[in-house]
Amino acid sequence: MTQASQISENQVLEALEGVMDGDESIVSKGMVQGLQVQDGHVVMAIVVPPSVGASAEPLRKEAEKVVHALNGVLSATVVLTAESEPGGGNSGHDHGHDHGHDHDHDHGKAQKEAPLLPGAKSIIAVASGKGGVGKSTTAVNLALALKAQGLKVGLLDADIFGPSQPRMLGISGEPQSSDGKTLDPMEGHGIKCMSMGFLVDEETPVVWRGPMVQTALIQMMRDINWGTLDVMIVDMPPGTGDVQLTMAQQVPLTGAIIVSTPQDMALLDARKGLNMFRQVDVPVLGIIENMSYFACPHCGEHTNIFSHGGAKKEADTVGMEFLGEIPLDVQIRETSDGGNPVVVSDPDGAHALAYKAIAKRVWEKTEDALAAKAASEPRILQ
Ligand code: ADP
Repeated sequence: MTQASQISENQVLEALEGVMDGDESIVSKGMVQGLQVQDGHVVMAIVVPPSVGASAEPLRKEAEKVVHALNGVLSATVVLTAESEPGGGNSGHDHGHDHGHDHDHDHGKAQKEAPLLPGAKSIIAVASGKGGVGKSTTAVNLALALKAQGLKVGLLDADIFGPSQPRMLGISGEPQSSDGKTLDPMEGHGIKCMSMGFLVDEETPVVWRGPMVQTALIQMMRDINWGTLDVMIVDMPPGTGDVQLTMAQQVPLTGAIIVSTPQDMALLDARKGLNMFRQVDVPVLGIIENMSYFACPHCGEHTNIFSHGGAKKEADTVGMEFLGEIPLDVQIRETSDGGNPVVVSDPDGAHALAYKAIAKRVWEKTEDALAAKAASEPRILQ
């Protein structure tokens, strides 16, 4: 990493000394938290009392402007965070999901930040117990299969460890702003996409720290012109650690899908994923077994490299639906790695049909989950 003209945390703080909340700077008031500076990308949170909430928006904008104007800053992301006791209200998808717990006990007085992904009818996480099981490949093909059903689909690549969706959707370049204020998502094969990969170089491994991940994620949901979507697919980082748990909590998810290979089923990795979503009350729509068997491209014979069918058995044991299986096939790898996933490059082939059948079931279950949610939520009249 070159050190030339690199912006430092101190330089950012110095500039923020000029941003005043009343007659004191937000820095001396201790309102700046989670400041992270990496390769010219700056992310931070401004902590405000829950009662102030969205009315602090001008402060947030000003801080973002001041930081952005600094030499050597490529992007500035500032979010408002309401300080409150943990574990509070996480109800209602339309308000205050940003932090999962900005609950104000002062009946109805709380002013909330702008809702996350207000135009998305449903949001589905695609997760896995560990990396390399084909989660991103599954996510992109599912997104395309949902689109083939006539749905408006977005893909939020939240995989901080290996953002691969820009490549899989054949997208290059950087997001632009058509209204001069908010960034437009990028688009590939008719899918709107934002990715951590647009914030960092795919080649450069980045050590993300907690607050940086959260602010970037929130920015990708809140500050992007997503428009209306029937479904947003979120490609989660692999694994079930704190980062994943926080994301599962922050994103107003309608449901989650777990991708697993047969051998991970045996290792119970997928069960960890199920438990993670259960912890945050997100319904798991089902499990997909990827690299389920090897289909010989020459003779068509199916070879079970790992014990095939484990996912179905495991799904039955833990009460998850088994959504289907996708074979290990070089066509799947080559097409998605080459920016032309199999669902668009061979839309009537056996693999595309397998993804489409899974997508159909996923959408049915999503509509059920939306209906169940609507039935259980009290209507708030204002
Ligand atoms: P993850 O998101 O779980 O880390 P990826 O989707 O990036 O995994 O997949 C890892 C590699 O495996 C990629 O090169 C991808 O093309 C390949 N791959 C994924 N699924 C399959 C499959 N069913 N058949 C063949 N290759 C696959």
